[in-house]
Amino acid sequence: MVGAMTESTLDLTLDGPALTARLVDFPSVSGQEKELADAIEAALRTLPHLTVDRHGNNVVARTHLGRAERVVLAGHIDTVPIADNVPSRLDDDGVLWGCGTSDMKSGVAVQLRIAATVPEPNRDLTFVFYDNEEVAAHLNGLGHVAEAHPDWLAGDFAVLLEGSDAEVEGGCQGTLRVFLRTEGERSHSARSWMGSNAIHAAAPILARLAAYEPRRPVIDGLEYHEGLNAVRIEGGVANNVIPDACTVVVNYRYAPDRTAEEALAHVREVFADCGVAEFVVDDHSGAAMPGLSHPAAKAFMAAVGGTARPKFGWTDVSRFGSLGVPAVNYGPGDPLLAHKRDEHVRTDRITHCEERLRSWLTG
Ligand SMILES: [Zn+2]
Repeated sequence: MVGAMTESTLDLTLDGPALTARLVDFPSVSGQEKELADAIEAALRTLPHLTVDRHGNNVVARTHLGRAERVVLAGHIDTVPIADNVPSRLDDDGVLWGCGTSDMKSGVAVQLRIAATVPEPNRDLTFVFYDNEEVAAHLNGLGHVAEAHPDWLAGDFAVLLEGSDAEVEGGCQGTLRVFLRTEGERSHSARSWMGSNAIHAAAPILARLAAYEPRRPVIDGLEYHEGLNAVRIEGGVANNVIPDACTVVVNYRYAPDRTAEEALAHVREVFADCGVAEFVVDDHSGAAMPGLSHPAAKAFMAAVGGTARPKFGWTDVSRFGSLGVPAVNYGPGDPLLAHKRDEHVRTDRITHCEERLRSWLTG
């Protein structure tokens, strides 16, 4: 069988670490995923218990067993640009090195292993492999599938196999970026009383931010931690001119018990009486509930063990959130190693994740 394998095929009988190495040796920098998507599609099409659909370089495979619940296992197949770290290298200590080992081809290998080795899962399964996660949000393949074929992503619960050090990270916080502009009147700084200083006018905004007490709500047993911060400030035209404009860029990271509308209303309210001349929403991505109270999620937690942690950064679990599918991150990669030249993954983590997921889906 191995003899029949060519450069462009994937052998799903390889174990998790070996399959991860194979995936890493298949370069798939964002925008160049076609070859790997072709190989994943071809490998999945050999499995009679799955139907396979494709949209661009996104591949979705599903069982149709009529089970009471459906869970989604999702992962992106692209990587950041290679940094002299392909092909992969396995060292004697069970560490696999290379671009994408942690972020997140080890997770993709686990998805493929489950697809190949669990033909009769206790829950219907949907496997999603998508492109362009590491680049601008509008290119994200999961977003494209959600728009074109939302039914392909339907489910009761989703697990995103993005690296989480084999710990469960529930939901994700939302992120909102606004520009708060203040106005003044230009004048020569030698006769400053002839003008009005827009940078000084930003003082109430900064005072409000400095005094702000972020919430730490507990949701599904997870304590989130919000933040409202100035992340940039711009103002001034020359060293002898009283500035007539100043912009404070504010980022609000909020817990998933707030909708996008509520988050925006909250920020407007915080700065309502701070002399803001213009309030502009620059970017906004909603939060996602962890959904750990759902029966499928409870069974998942029981199978994988450990305690769930809240996810503070924004991730693609939010795309499932917007489709009404609660989602968690759970994958073998180490998030701290993502995008690093010395990116690596411990092979025992890959095997552990695969075994835990298999026991959840067959127990
Ligand atoms: Zn990733």
